[in-house]
Amino acid sequence: MTGDRGDENAAERKMRFLFALRSRGVTDTRVLTAMERIDRGAFVRGLFAERAYEDMPLPIACGQTISQPSVVGLMTQALAVQPRDVVLEVGTGSGYQAAVLSQLARRVYTVDRHRRLVADAQEVFRQLGLVNITARTADGSHGLPEQAPFDRIIVTAAAEDPPGPLLAQLKIGGIMVLPVGQSDTVQSLIKVVRTERGFDYDELRPVRFVPLVEGLGGD
Ligand code: SAH
Repeated sequence: MTGDRGDENAAERKMRFLFALRSRGVTDTRVLTAMERIDRGAFVRGLFAERAYEDMPLPIACGQTISQPSVVGLMTQALAVQPRDVVLEVGTGSGYQAAVLSQLARRVYTVDRHRRLVADAQEVFRQLGLVNITARTADGSHGLPEQAPFDRIIVTAAAEDPPGPLLAQLKIGGIMVLPVGQSDTVQSLIKVVRTERGFDYDELRPVRFVPLVEGLGGD
């Protein structure tokens, strides 16, 4: 029956999706389980929807992109989220990264400069019943002062340097993961740990993200 074959394909697709993640270094079981639960297909619309399970970035509205699943996995893994953590994400985009984080953290705040992306992501969160995500339209380069400090901060757009307000809104013992570097060249994914005495920086891998842009978007 068509229905059965459809289910079988979905299961196979999921197996391939998880296999690709593992082969690219996503080995943390909690991260893999979170990514198994959150259907990336719910966050990709239109022409590209059928490619949602491939390990590639895809276009979304407002000229932005949903990150490659393996990059989402590696960033989430580097963030080492604990069950009681409050996480800030800068760059909601499709909402996929926030949804994955929602499986691992107590609460996720996510901000994007495009009102339309925030509205679309909120609708998907509602459909999937992800009640521990709060999405706002805001310029995330200022962080989210009214909810700070955060246990974890993830930035999914590239700045030249870690924005000062984000460093200031990280708890002591907290971790921030973000791409840094100029938008038209290769950027580095870095991990910042706030200690009693300052910040420790660790360079993880080369990546490519859309730029962090100041101010709100036009739509
Ligand atoms: N995490 C997303 C992908 C993000 S793409 C996902 O899972 O789909 C990067 C996003 O960062 C874009 O949506 C862009 O609008 C947003 N962005 C860029 N500069 C920003 C800023 N200053 N504040 C908030 N969001 C910003």
